[in-house]
Amino acid sequence: MFPDNDACAKYLEAVRWPGGFVCPACGIKGEPYRFKTRTAVVLRCRGCKKNASLTAGTIIQSSHTPLATWFWGAYLMTTQTPGQSALQFQRQLGLTRYETAFQILHKLRAGMVRPERDSIGGENPVEIDECYVGGATRGEGRGTHHKTTVVGAVEVRTRKDAEDRAAKWKEAHEGGIPTKKLVYAGRLRLKVVSGKGADNLTSFIKENVAAGSTIRTDGWQGYNDLPEMGYSHDSLVLGGDPDKAESHLPMIHLVFSNLKTWILGTHHGRIAPHHLQAYLNEYVFRFNRRFYPMTAFNSVLGLAARALPPTYAQLYSGEWVHPAT
Ligand SMILES: [Zn+2]
Repeated sequence: MFPDNDACAKYLEAVRWPGGFVCPACGIKGEPYRFKTRTAVVLRCRGCKKNASLTAGTIIQSSHTPLATWFWGAYLMTTQTPGQSALQFQRQLGLTRYETAFQILHKLRAGMVRPERDSIGGENPVEIDECYVGGATRGEGRGTHHKTTVVGAVEVRTRKDAEDRAAKWKEAHEGGIPTKKLVYAGRLRLKVVSGKGADNLTSFIKENVAAGSTIRTDGWQGYNDLPEMGYSHDSLVLGGDPDKAESHLPMIHLVFSNLKTWILGTHHGRIAPHHLQAYLNEYVFRFNRRFYPMTAFNSVLGLAARALPPTYAQLYSGEWVHPAT
C-alpha cells in the first residue's frame, strides 16, 4: 500500500480529511496547493494561503526522516512478527545513523505502551493463570526467587461459523467435534504482580474481568473467592495433573509460552523486572489488535482513531470493527 513517500502522504491526508481537504486555519473546503518537493508534507490553502502539515499531531511531526521510513517502522512494530532491534531496523532500511533507527522505534513503542482499560469477559469465558518470567541472574543458582510473577487473562471466543464448521467436520470424520478449531483467543490482559497471593489475583480480576463472567482457573486456593465476587468459577479440582491443567487452560498457556519465546528470542531474556510491565503492554497491544492491523498501525503513528476510508476497511473485512473513538 505504501510504495513511496507520496503514497504515505496521500494516506495521511485521507485519514485526516476523509471528505477532502479542509483548511485548519480558515475552514475553507477545496483542493489545496501541493508542493512538488521530495519531502513535502505540507498542503497550502488556496483561500488564506496558510500551510497545513500532514504530520501535525502525529508522532512524525517535526521529524526530518522520510514518511516511508516511519511507515515501515510502524508496520514492523504492529505485525505479529517478532519485534526488531534498532540495529536490524537500521540495516534493513539503510539508515545512515543508528540513533535515527533507535529513536523511531522508541517513539513507536511509546504509542503501544498504554494500559487497556475496558473489561474483558462478559458472554465469553475467561481463562486465568499465572506464570514466571525471567530467571535467576548469573551466579544466583536455581529457583524462582528472582523471577517475576505475571498473571494473565484471556477470553475464549467461539467462532461465529462454529456450527457450520462442526457440521462439515462431522461429515468428514465420523463421530466427534473438533472443539479446538471452534474457539479462538479474544482479548488479553497481562500484569506483573508481587506474587500468587489471593489479594494480587483478585484485584487483577476485578480490574480486568467483567462481573458475572465465567472464569476458568486451576485449583489454586488464591482463586477461592471468585464466586463471592460475583463470578461463575470453573475451577480444575485440586491435585489435577499437568495434562489436565493443559486441557483446562489451553489458551492462556499458549499465550504464556509465546510470551516467553518473544522475551527470550527478541529481547534475549534481558528485561529488568521494573521494565517488564511495559513489554507486557507492548505484547498485549499487538495481540489484541492482530485482527485489526490497520488500527494498530494508525495507533502507533499517532493518527487520530477515526473511521478509515472504506477501501482500507474492505481489506480487513470479516473481523473488522471501527476503532473506538
Ligand atoms: Zn485557509
